[in-house]
Amino acid sequence: MIAPLKVGLAGLGTVGAAVVDLLDRERAALLARCGRAVEVVAVSARSKAKKRAIDLKKLKWVRDPVALARDPDIDVFVELMGGAGDPAKAAIAAALAAGKSVVTANKALLARHGVALAAVAEKHRVALNFEAAIGGAIPIVKTLREGLAGNSFARISGILNGTCNYILTRMEREKLSFAECLADAQRLGYAEADPSFDVEGHDTAQKLAILASLAFGTKVNEAAVFVEGISSIAPEDIEAADELGYRVKLLGVAMRTGKGIEQRVHPTMVAKNTAIAGVMGVTNAVSIDAEGFAPITLVGPGAGGNATASAVVADIGDIARGVRTAPFGRPSAKLTVSKQAPMQRHEGGYYIRLAAHDRPGIFAAIAKHLAREKISLESIVQRHRGTQPHGGDDPRSPDAPASVILITYATSEDAVRRALKAIKKQGVIAGNPQLIRIEKN
Ligand code: NAP
Repeated sequence: MIAPLKVGLAGLGTVGAAVVDLLDRERAALLARCGRAVEVVAVSARSKAKKRAIDLKKLKWVRDPVALARDPDIDVFVELMGGAGDPAKAAIAAALAAGKSVVTANKALLARHGVALAAVAEKHRVALNFEAAIGGAIPIVKTLREGLAGNSFARISGILNGTCNYILTRMEREKLSFAECLADAQRLGYAEADPSFDVEGHDTAQKLAILASLAFGTKVNEAAVFVEGISSIAPEDIEAADELGYRVKLLGVAMRTGKGIEQRVHPTMVAKNTAIAGVMGVTNAVSIDAEGFAPITLVGPGAGGNATASAVVADIGDIARGVRTAPFGRPSAKLTVSKQAPMQRHEGGYYIRLAAHDRPGIFAAIAKHLAREKISLESIVQRHRGTQPHGGDDPRSPDAPASVILITYATSEDAVRRALKAIKKQGVIAGNPQLIRIEKN
């Protein structure tokens, strides 16, 4: 009989407590599946005195997470404290250097230090598993790293932030503003008190940078991700999208292009008949375009204690089985520095909403600037006289600007930006144009 795998767990919050609970509940199943029992033996958190749902009586309390990571009584260190720096980074590095495998859900740390930590793990021949860092219970890391190890990838895209998808879903279903839906998300515990990291797209960008590395064999490069959040999306955009056969989603997209790897996070119009468009509420989804067959889309709960604990426990299970894979799917020394495709050279269709002043010749002026940039229009719609994109004139006034919605055929980001700058400079529109990229699949 092999001795139980002894786990040291730092962080007993939402995820940590759910991991302790799940390991306890699924003790027999884990033993049967992995051939080895898994036991939490020591823990660390900020406050020993804090009231917790889990029973700490039988567990060793180690005040310093770095000391826990090195503790000779543990085989595996599970980091569930969070934060891109110390103590999480120092503790993971200490555990790996002491020859202990590590499991973490910390995307912020991995986006910044993942490759360096992977090198330490490889040097000491131990595992660094992070399934829980992306997409909660969705096994996307394993799918890219192991399930599709024989494939090349053209594109990975997905809804990787439940808070944003919840807000956009409610805006569409209940015709509410961004601010109203955000306030509800905060009340329900889906959004942080400071929601900017989620709603401005940075959480998605960190996850996308890790996925891009796994898919394309490149070093994680969060700085290379173009990021735009959802806070400028107005109910009018959601309504127009609906009429045009689209839904607005905050997508992370990483794809190979002739100009290098493009990594971008932004509100996106996706056709209603696509798998991604059907993903509503806090649910996450990831679509993988592997060469040679139709895309695979994985959909599931992307956050929350139980969903995230499921991924953490599966990672611990691999260690119990003795399975070890290079953290980013290939030795870290073989990860390349990818040529990044600049966002200005992104090509695709665009939704543009302008608040046009009601004067003769306005359409001609707009058309002239678009033609100069060789931008062709799939459709142009003048909507009811109403709200401007970013406030301004009284919408009831006959002099208030009218919304003009343009849908372009595929063009370049550069061309669109230049045309909009020229249109604004000519003084034919009020406020700033709204621009949402359209994704074909
Ligand atoms: P949380 O509820 O805030 O819990 C954090 C835990 O870490 C707490 O137990 C806290 O101690 C402990 N901790 C914080 N700083 C510490 C320090 N300096 N020294 C020792 N212990 C410290 O966080 P969480 O939501 O469980 O998230 C944990 C990790 O999982 C993060 O990396 C997060 O990004 C990731 N994750 C979370 C979710 C989710 O749905 N929550 C989903 C995916 C990934 P006290 O209890 O004493 O305060």
